[in-house]
Amino acid sequence: MIPTATPKILKLVRLGNPVLRMDTKRLTRTEIVSDKIRNLVANMRHTIEEESYGVGMSAPQVGESLAISIIAIKPTPNRPELKRFDKTLFNAEIIETYGRRVGMWEGCASVGSGDDILYAKVPRYKKVRVAYLDETGQRRIEVLDGFVAHVAQHEIDHLSGVMLVDRVRDKSTFMMGDEYKKRIVNSRA
Ligand SMILES: [Zn+2]
Repeated sequence: MIPTATPKILKLVRLGNPVLRMDTKRLTRTEIVSDKIRNLVANMRHTIEEESYGVGMSAPQVGESLAISIIAIKPTPNRPELKRFDKTLFNAEIIETYGRRVGMWEGCASVGSGDDILYAKVPRYKKVRVAYLDETGQRRIEVLDGFVAHVAQHEIDHLSGVMLVDRVRDKSTFMMGDEYKKRIVNSRA
């Protein structure tokens, strides 16, 4: 599992780039354990760390139309209640949802940057069952709940070219990053 090259920071593609709108290619077990894919995953993880992109990233966001999503949730000073969930998911799909969707705030590093990230309330399920292949190519099925479930739905959308702007029902919730921080994040404290 050791990457063969020093990890690089990858450039993110942004809304308007057709790769974000494509159906991604699913990977075989052989591809998942190949140097090429391991290096790509190491670079994506390095990019999330170095650029503080937050909690998840999918391969189309770095210009690769492949069914790879990273979910990297860690407790932070702002959100100490978060449980750690740090996994790379290949060919991930939602195979079951529970209950109905509720509006949750989200943003995407492919739609703006810094204070200009576009946020909105997106209808998401609180709990989903997800099937995927892990880093060894083994099939796994997991029930995800709460924030992890929310992030997984956003990342799995990226694998079929769906962006958060498509999912927003209440258009009046669109908000730029600085206003979002002022009105939503700070009001939680
Ligand atoms: Zn995104």
